[in-house]
Amino acid sequence: MDTTSVRTLIVGAGITGLATAAALGERGDTDYLVLEGDAEIGGYCKTVKKEGFVWDYSGHFFHFKHPEIEAWLRERMPKQRILDVEKRSFIEYKGTQIDFPFQKNIHQLPKDELIDCLYDLYFARAPRELLGKHAPPAPEASASAAESFETMLYARFGRSIAEKFLIPYNEKLYACDLGSLDKDAMGRFFPHADLTDIIRNMKVADNATYNARFTYPEGGAIEYVKAIASAVRPGGVALSETVLSIDLDAKVARTNKRDIRFDRLVSSAPFNRLLATAKVPHDASAYSWNKVLVFNLGFDRKGQKDVHWVYFPDREVVFYRVGFYDNIFDTDRLSLYVEIGFARDAVVDVEATRARVLADLEKTGVTKGHRLIAEHNVVMDPAYVHITQRSIFEHARLAQELRARGVYPVGRYGGWTYCSIEDNIVEARALVASFA
Ligand SMILES: Cc1cc2nc3c(=O)[nH]c(=O)nc-3n(C[C@H](O)[C@H](O)[C@H](O)COP(=O)(O)OP(=O)(O)OC[C@H]3O[C@@H](n4cnc5c(N)ncnc54)[C@H](O)[C@@H]3O)c2cc1C
Repeated sequence: MDTTSVRTLIVGAGITGLATAAALGERGDTDYLVLEGDAEIGGYCKTVKKEGFVWDYSGHFFHFKHPEIEAWLRERMPKQRILDVEKRSFIEYKGTQIDFPFQKNIHQLPKDELIDCLYDLYFARAPRELLGKHAPPAPEASASAAESFETMLYARFGRSIAEKFLIPYNEKLYACDLGSLDKDAMGRFFPHADLTDIIRNMKVADNATYNARFTYPEGGAIEYVKAIASAVRPGGVALSETVLSIDLDAKVARTNKRDIRFDRLVSSAPFNRLLATAKVPHDASAYSWNKVLVFNLGFDRKGQKDVHWVYFPDREVVFYRVGFYDNIFDTDRLSLYVEIGFARDAVVDVEATRARVLADLEKTGVTKGHRLIAEHNVVMDPAYVHITQRSIFEHARLAQELRARGVYPVGRYGGWTYCSIEDNIVEARALVASFA
């Protein structure tokens, strides 16, 4: 077997791996190699094109907080038209559409439900029987360990808001017991609102969330990936090459093609898989996640206008969210992504789920006898990692050990976190800046 040597070996040619390579290149360090197990770059930011429809693996929309990062990307995609869209999103609730986020729009509910929500909000507290349900064992239990994502929802918003939307929707998405998740499992992506915000919103609508406006390249999310890849040296990415094992003492990675000696290794592979590949002793039960089955569906004619995505908390509806690409592109044929959450060990029956999806799209009025003319599906596994007290503790502990040995877990899955592509770029740049 061939042996190659490289200063920085990067695992994964998704946003994070490519951004790491680009950042190294920008400081004149070209002694790196990116290994990608797949036959194409992009990771979860790939785009699929069929019969004139443009779809991502799942709806990927972009909201940059760092103008210099957005400018850096745009400079590298001069021929792309970037759409700048003001978000319109709704919740499908008992046959009507309520503005998102639910907790700030309870005044759009029927009067009796509004009273329930307001009353419970005012007297909100976590149900005693839920407190401490999933507290992690000592010694890592912190003072806030008793508060889970589930108890946070009850304590902040009260029973009615929690049980009408926040609990059923997030259970469908995460496909787990929400009592097992850390209270900050969604980080800044959770739309918090207090009593004052909620009351104020009844007269002065302010539904701004982190993604009130978003951008989207006409060619799909892959255009941002290509922009980053344009800053990677020619030959800097090896496709269809999977890291199979890592010898941390010898600093050698074995792939399906060769052995590669490295000084440092930056890995965007899922953290639990990195631990297994590098034979790091660990408790596999600390890591849990969901899978998301995505159907991209193209129909013969237009559907609802003025909406970009809709949330479905109803447990009788198989999907939790549907997005409308045609309203982003302003095109005349309904083009959807439909997302279904599964537990990590669930057997995904794509055909049976597809039939339910098509039936539920009709039932909910998203389609009205539309003819399906193109489709694509993909299972994202992992999709949303379950951020628990235990995963936070174990990730921090083992990532520190790995970093001390020149191995840097990064990205959404290497970092076992919930983040955007911009966060991935920020993290990659900061990591490279920290290298001697
Ligand atoms: C349902 C969903 C919706 C999302 N929506 C948005 C959104 O609207 N906006 C946004 O900004 N972000 C969104 N994200 C997040 C975004 O997809 C991620 O932040 C980003 O794609 C992560 O990039 P990454 O490079 O860290 O990981 P990945 O994209 O997972 O890339 C990792 C790469 O490593 C490769 N790899 C893994 N193991 C090995 C190995 N052993 N050897 C070789 N290669 C390996 C994989 O094949 C993959 O290509 C969404 C994510 C999901 C799941």
